[in-house]
Amino acid sequence: MKNASYYHFKIGKFSATIIGDGQTQFPAYPLYAVNAKPGEVKKALAAVFLNTEKYTLQCNILLVDNGRDKILVDTGAGPTLGNELGQLLPHLQAVGVSPAQITAVLVSHGHLDHIGGLVAPDEQPNFPNAQIYLAEPEWHFWQAPTIDLSSMPIADGFRQNFINAARTNLDPLKDRIHTFKFGQEILPGITAVPALGHSPGHTAFLIASGRESLLHAGDVFHHPAFDLANPQWATAFDQDAGRAYQTRLALLDQASSDRSLLMAYHLPFPALGHVRKVGRRYEWEAASWRF
Ligand SMILES: [Zn+2]
Repeated sequence: MKNASYYHFKIGKFSATIIGDGQTQFPAYPLYAVNAKPGEVKKALAAVFLNTEKYTLQCNILLVDNGRDKILVDTGAGPTLGNELGQLLPHLQAVGVSPAQITAVLVSHGHLDHIGGLVAPDEQPNFPNAQIYLAEPEWHFWQAPTIDLSSMPIADGFRQNFINAARTNLDPLKDRIHTFKFGQEILPGITAVPALGHSPGHTAFLIASGRESLLHAGDVFHHPAFDLANPQWATAFDQDAGRAYQTRLALLDQASSDRSLLMAYHLPFPALGHVRKVGRRYEWEAASWRF
């Protein structure tokens, strides 16, 4: 028995749906708070009534229909992080959208949990009619003959999984990959916002229609108990943790003062809501459920 894995809402005239890719569990420490003490992480999880030993990571994919295109923002983990994740295709089917109807995929960055759903195990594209868009520096980084992930404090084997996922999912789609510049309107109503640090071309997306908008923050922050309550905490997946921290503060300060509607990929489903600045920390106010 499973809960629903989709959440419909509107951004002005655009239809939007958040589709859960599933979840996986990691030890609570240290991957999502490499510069914290184990006791601090336990305390942060206990404060929000979560298991203090295991951290549940979710992935959530945004589907936008702007009247012309059906657009996915990221594609989930595919087979790269076990079989509790990688559920995008069946969940897309549940909202009545076939993979062939997807015309564009925007990629926030080239990490395996975001690009793992681009290509099927037989190397055929999962979205046969989609053009793929990613930031110029991100494409150059992952396409280079040598991919240097040495600044990520993770095991060599895990690092190699990132490299393999990029080779597997991006290389076969080369002829349909389009790069964009920051500030560019990639598709009608969707603008690329620089959000550097987590990866060399990490991108947030501003989706606007009429007077409404949504800022998709990608991996600028991950969880209310981790890098919202403790914005100085870095994940092991930040390629430049210092820069990621500066980006996090700038984006969250702005979103808090503008009262922006936000989505971030790894937040608990439906990963949609607002952020409030309280002293040096940020509090998450999840969007009310809609029926
Ligand atoms: Zn991620």
